[in-house]
Amino acid sequence: MRTDGMLKEGALKDQTIIVTGGGTGLGRAMGTYFLELGANLVITSRKIEVLEQTAKEMEAQTGGKVLAVQCDVRDYEQVENVLKVTEERFGQIHALLNNAAGNFISPTERLSNRAFDTVIDIVLKGTTNFTLALGKKWIANKQPGTVLNIVTTYAWTGSGYVVPSACAKAGVLAMTRSLAVEWAKYKIRMNAIAPGPFPTEGAWSRLLPGDLVKKFDPAKLVPVGRVGEHQELANLAAYLMSDYSAYVNGEVVTIDGGEWLQGAGEFSHLEKIPQEMWDMLEAQRGKKQ
Ligand code: NAP
Repeated sequence: MRTDGMLKEGALKDQTIIVTGGGTGLGRAMGTYFLELGANLVITSRKIEVLEQTAKEMEAQTGGKVLAVQCDVRDYEQVENVLKVTEERFGQIHALLNNAAGNFISPTERLSNRAFDTVIDIVLKGTTNFTLALGKKWIANKQPGTVLNIVTTYAWTGSGYVVPSACAKAGVLAMTRSLAVEWAKYKIRMNAIAPGPFPTEGAWSRLLPGDLVKKFDPAKLVPVGRVGEHQELANLAAYLMSDYSAYVNGEVVTIDGGEWLQGAGEFSHLEKIPQEMWDMLEAQRGKKQ
């Protein structure tokens, strides 16, 4: 395993990139690497104190420029404001990482209709709000652009106990593929990443509180036997943001150590059979042949 930065120095030089939910977790990790590669960064979310603290730490760590802007992705006017202040500070906007999300792990019948709406509004509408507002601007100004959307592997398998999130992420994936075709003529490129388990406060401590994270240890569900390192995701995101991936459009790249396929393969649960039993089965087959 390698956990150093993968791209060439300056691979994102002078690119202005907006990262939603960029003050914490994976958004912060990807944003930090974009800065290391020479980008100007804009981080947005609801909690301005968190954003400002993160921006300060990122600038100290990388020497790059970070603008923190408060924005609830559900509110289109706030989204338009992010674009306005970004242009005032950095000029042209080159790329967008739709990373902000909310989720509830719960039997679906226990959720209120409002809880359902909240997740759909943040994940699906938040992503479409930012993509539409920026896409309109790029098209009107005849500027090229790159959009990267963070989805999940259950965007295509579906999953119990996270149904609003599954519906919303499936919608984001549909938007990614649809606009990859429709907007290619405007030189707007659109891809997605589906991460498997990567430890973060938001996805782990909040979603699986207390002992639950030990009981349902996500690493045990991953064929390669571990969870992801943030830099591994950041390397992939930086590649998909950069011109090195100019021919990749409408793709979703899974980075999950094989997790979702293990759940999907009809015989994969035979992993639980110990070696001695395989020896026995082979010996029995041998006798018959
Ligand atoms: P996280 O730290 O909780 O990130 C979520 C971010 O979204 C936070 O910064 C939060 O900031 C922001 N956010 C939430 N509601 C918002 C709203 N209404 N408007 C604007 N921003 C909002 O969790 P994470 O694990 O890094 O997740 C990042 C992305 O990776 C998500 O899209 C998630 O679905 C995806 N993902 C993560 C994993 C994993 O294992 N970690 C696996 C698969 C997919 P505020 O609270 O300040 O608004």
